[in-house]
Amino acid sequence: MLMLTEVGKMEKPEWIDDLGTYNTFPQPCVPSTERDFQAIFSCYSPEYIEFRQVYIAGEGHCNAHIFWFHNTGFMMVHPTSKFPTRYFRIGCKHVWEGLTEKQMRDLNIGPLGRCENVQICNKCGTVYRTDSSD
Ligand SMILES: [Zn+2]
Repeated sequence: MLMLTEVGKMEKPEWIDDLGTYNTFPQPCVPSTERDFQAIFSCYSPEYIEFRQVYIAGEGHCNAHIFWFHNTGFMMVHPTSKFPTRYFRIGCKHVWEGLTEKQMRDLNIGPLGRCENVQICNKCGTVYRTDSSD
């Protein structure tokens, strides 16, 4: 279910280091593109949407919305008189790989259904479980 949330009300996802504040960016947060932002929307719906006024050096406070998806976030900084809309990807740039049998046992995962797939990010440890029959 999609929820509009306020800064500090959402539990910190394991795939980010810092949620930040009403006036700061979550970390990690790197510039991205409208195309990447649209690409995630073509596959998933955000779980949370959050409004902030982030401080950008040389510009001041800029209105922004953060779209929190299940394993990544995107921030849209709204256009100003000097800049068009800007996009930022939030969180680990996951590198997915299949779990070993030991990792499955250690994480108490399994047995898997015929259409289930479990991957782990080898950078942040996030586990992503999908069922391709859904
Ligand atoms: Zn990761």
